[in-house]
Amino acid sequence: MERLSVPDNRTCDGPQPLISVVVPFYNEEENARAAVTALLALQADAPGCNFQIICVNDGSRDGTLDVLRDLALTNSSVVVLDLIRNFGKEAAMTAGLDFATGDALVFIDGDLQHPPSLIPEMIRRWQGGTRSVAAKRRTRNTDSYLYRLLTAYFYRVSNRISDITLIDGVGDFRLIDKTIADDLRRLKENRRFMKGLFAWADPDPQLLEYDVSPRSAGSSSFNGWRSWNFALEGITSYSTIPLRLWTYVGLALIALGGTYASWVVIQALLYGVTAPGYVTLLSAVILFGGIQLIGIGVLGEYVGRIYMEVKERPPYLVRSVLNDPRNT
Ligand code: UDP
Ligand code: MG
Repeated sequence: MERLSVPDNRTCDGPQPLISVVVPFYNEEENARAAVTALLALQADAPGCNFQIICVNDGSRDGTLDVLRDLALTNSSVVVLDLIRNFGKEAAMTAGLDFATGDALVFIDGDLQHPPSLIPEMIRRWQGGTRSVAAKRRTRNTDSYLYRLLTAYFYRVSNRISDITLIDGVGDFRLIDKTIADDLRRLKENRRFMKGLFAWADPDPQLLEYDVSPRSAGSSSFNGWRSWNFALEGITSYSTIPLRLWTYVGLALIALGGTYASWVVIQALLYGVTAPGYVTLLSAVILFGGIQLIGIGVLGEYVGRIYMEVKERPPYLVRSVLNDPRNT
């Protein structure tokens, strides 16, 4: 079991370990410079480690790319991957994962909501032998009450019906060992829910608590509709229970209908045929029509995902790479 042993290059005695920090950027021109500068400054807090900052420009429509290019020109450890358009955060992180050559990979947001000061501690724990360290936000007080309520429900439902466990408050901010990164690179699915994939590849990461900072500039691109779709993606990627549920709903309804029918027949035998019940009939037709449509809708969610997956399109396309780590 080679994977259980700690690779030599984690410690500072052997060859210096290389830490790849993957940062997705979408319209972050006001944050990009500060974020990258903060990450470059880590070199001083984690002596004995080399850093590679992989900045993924996810089709930004503002000046993000110019800022990143500028940083890459003056610092060869800043890698810039420019995607041809906006593919979404999950795809941008996948691009960073594919290009990273480090002994450990750190994923962090480019809007300075995740404190880079946590990274040296993550590295220390990794050097101590942990394969992955996930940051867990202490509170959700930057979110609205409704959002918090909905997220709590999402975690409860998702954990109950799928075979991976998502921890509330644990997002994409984390460190993973190269071996986990290699496992993740083997996954062929192109629609990725990274939080789930991390949990799938390593079910119990060490947790490190932190306080999320407010966004330093710009606005979040995860509005209500996007978050809802993200939640659907999370559930349908890891569970087929929503599909199977309909068999049981159907069985329950048959039992209910059967009981009702016997009751009507018995009543007719005892008291003769009366013919009220138009409203009952109408509501039943509408209700069951609705239930069937929901069933078909759930089926459609999965069929749509199968359709997208069988095309085997790559999750992202790269236009250009600056300081490509794979060339050196
Ligand atoms: N992001 C991205 N592509 C997108 C949306 C977001 O690369 O399509 C990046 C964004 O620049 C930021 C990170 O993903 O670095 C988190 O995004 P955001 O702050 O919008 O999400 P939130 O913090 O609200 O979850
Ligand atoms: Mg953010």
